[in-house]
Amino acid sequence: MTQEFEGKVALVTGAGNGIGRAAALAFAREGARVVVSDVDARNGEQTVVEIHEAGGTAQFALADVSKEADVINLIDGTLRSYGRLDVAFNNAGISGAQGSVASLSEVQWNQVLAVNLTGVFLCMKHELAQMEKQGSGAIINNASILGTVGFAGAAAYTAAKHGVLGLTKVAAIEYATKGIRVNAVCPGFIVTPMLERAGLLADENIRKSLENMHAMKRLGTSEEVAEAVVFLASRRSSFVTGHPLLVDGGFVSM
Ligand code: NAP
Repeated sequence: MTQEFEGKVALVTGAGNGIGRAAALAFAREGARVVVSDVDARNGEQTVVEIHEAGGTAQFALADVSKEADVINLIDGTLRSYGRLDVAFNNAGISGAQGSVASLSEVQWNQVLAVNLTGVFLCMKHELAQMEKQGSGAIINNASILGTVGFAGAAAYTAAKHGVLGLTKVAAIEYATKGIRVNAVCPGFIVTPMLERAGLLADENIRKSLENMHAMKRLGTSEEVAEAVVFLASRRSSFVTGHPLLVDGGFVSM
């Protein structure tokens, strides 16, 4: 375990699975006290167990990021437990319904926007208020390669992720002189339960075609994204703000 985040408090949303779980484990490994938040208590508690087994410090907090009351409770609970908030990884997200723009229902559109965009806004709003009081903090939002390019069949997701990058840039500018950095990661296709549920991993042909969209001809791992998140949260990126860091095996370069 390194000392990079010794004495720091890191909050990770959607930490019950996939990229969020890997990031929570990485922050704990680097010495942070981690608030593991998710809408799924069983999976979130499992992440906490894994952190404790690895010798780290963490606690679970149930929150649906699309509900402001939950987000307020989440930040209040973090402050009650640990007294401060140094790092926030706004990671919770859903893939939502696939289909052309004309085939999307308003309900399907709203579901994806509520979690993937409004959820990030609500978290940032309350995280920034606390970090401003402290005069320090680092926020990393989980966008996607689909925050930078279009992808047929994923209109709501792509629109939400473009929105996340817009929000990231605005907050980065607004808080740049207040000791707070705001960045984003833009992962390519990463092997997680989200892709499994969408049926993209089981079918060998679909998986191969996804792999071929990346210059490295493979999918990424949650741990590879977590390393980028830890970098953006650390002092090693002290002059980096408003940046959408591609962690995409060359997807967008092709
Ligand atoms: P995942 O394996 O499904 O994990 C996401 C976690 O977030 C799950 O535990 C999920 O709970 C939780 N969650 C869903 N809605 C929530 C809400 N309203 N409030 C709080 N937690 C919620 O997904 P992942 O692949 O790790 O994705 C994490 C983030 O990375 C997302 O923002 C996603 O858009 C982004 N991303 C993923 C990829 C990829 O290829 N996997 C690529 C680019 C970007 P449930 O399981 O109960 O839904």
